[in-house]
Amino acid sequence: MPAHLPEGKLPSGFSTTTAFARTTQNGEAGTAKAAPMQEAEGPEREMTDDLFDESYREKEGPKPAKIYVWRNIILMSLLHLSAVYAVFTIPSAKVLTLLWVLLCFTLSGLGITAGAHRLWSHRSYKASLPLRIFLAIINSMAFQNDIYEWARDHRVHHKFSETDADPHNASRGFFFSHIGWLLVRKHPDVIEKGQLLDLSDLKADKVVMFQRRHYKASVVIMCFLVPPLVPWYFWGESYFNSFLLAAILRYTLILNATWLVNSAAHMYGYRPYDKTINPRENPFVVFGALGEGFHNFHHTFPFDYSASEFGLRWNFTTGFINLMCYLGLASDCKKVSKEVVLARRIRTGDGSHKTG
Ligand SMILES: [Zn+2]
Ligand SMILES: [Zn+2]
Repeated sequence: MPAHLPEGKLPSGFSTTTAFARTTQNGEAGTAKAAPMQEAEGPEREMTDDLFDESYREKEGPKPAKIYVWRNIILMSLLHLSAVYAVFTIPSAKVLTLLWVLLCFTLSGLGITAGAHRLWSHRSYKASLPLRIFLAIINSMAFQNDIYEWARDHRVHHKFSETDADPHNASRGFFFSHIGWLLVRKHPDVIEKGQLLDLSDLKADKVVMFQRRHYKASVVIMCFLVPPLVPWYFWGESYFNSFLLAAILRYTLILNATWLVNSAAHMYGYRPYDKTINPRENPFVVFGALGEGFHNFHHTFPFDYSASEFGLRWNFTTGFINLMCYLGLASDCKKVSKEVVLARRIRTGDGSHKTG
């Protein structure tokens, strides 16, 4: 893992904002209320539709009935059963195959964390055309809906966290926020609020729209064909092992690693930045999701490119973005200043001052 950045030093292409974070989610009075809007949103942002909307109120009366999506229930059950079976083929696989599976896991993870999440959902840094093309390709390898849809759902998640309009509302329990939300029809408020979001930046991105147009083909190739074909063709792994490990098991693991951010990191851990919100700092999720488990920080400062106070520490995705900046493929990384973070911790944190 890359070393922790020295105090006060940022790689080239970085800007430290003096942004003061958004106001508290429960509307509690405090100094943040007086913070100017541009400070609350972070400077020079292309969009701010990932900031919590305190004006939303859930509709009164009984909740709409759950409508099960049986196709997803059957497919997800088969996928997870096959993944369990795949675990038993690990001893018979070649070492090179296992290393390849790890590489594919990491690449598809970055397609979500560095791509769909930090670049396209939050615009926390800028990426050149070659990097965006690469991120879109490895995003298809992760097969978690196309970038446009992923980013729309994620902005709604931040804007309406833990309410009916949050696609994976964690107040409905661990199972719902982990996988259950994909097995039932969306709550009408998720659709209604999603349609009102500003997605103009995504529509203007030719890479995003191209991936959306050719999404099915790109998933077949990048998620289910290329990963198993490489070990079979280049070092003679059996196609059966190769498919089970590089496609089925790897895909199931990356799905669950991502879902843990929505479930575990919204339930278990400390809240050093804002004790009034559900998202938490969860070290287990940090590790599995390539640096995405500093979730109390991330919901407090969603525009920070590192999604963490601590830069590179346990944050593979930040290391990747730093490398891209070093290579001249990324720029304009937004980072909240240490003073602003400290002030916020003192004002609304739970006093833990820990990462988990
Ligand atoms: Zn986010
Ligand atoms: Zn979240």
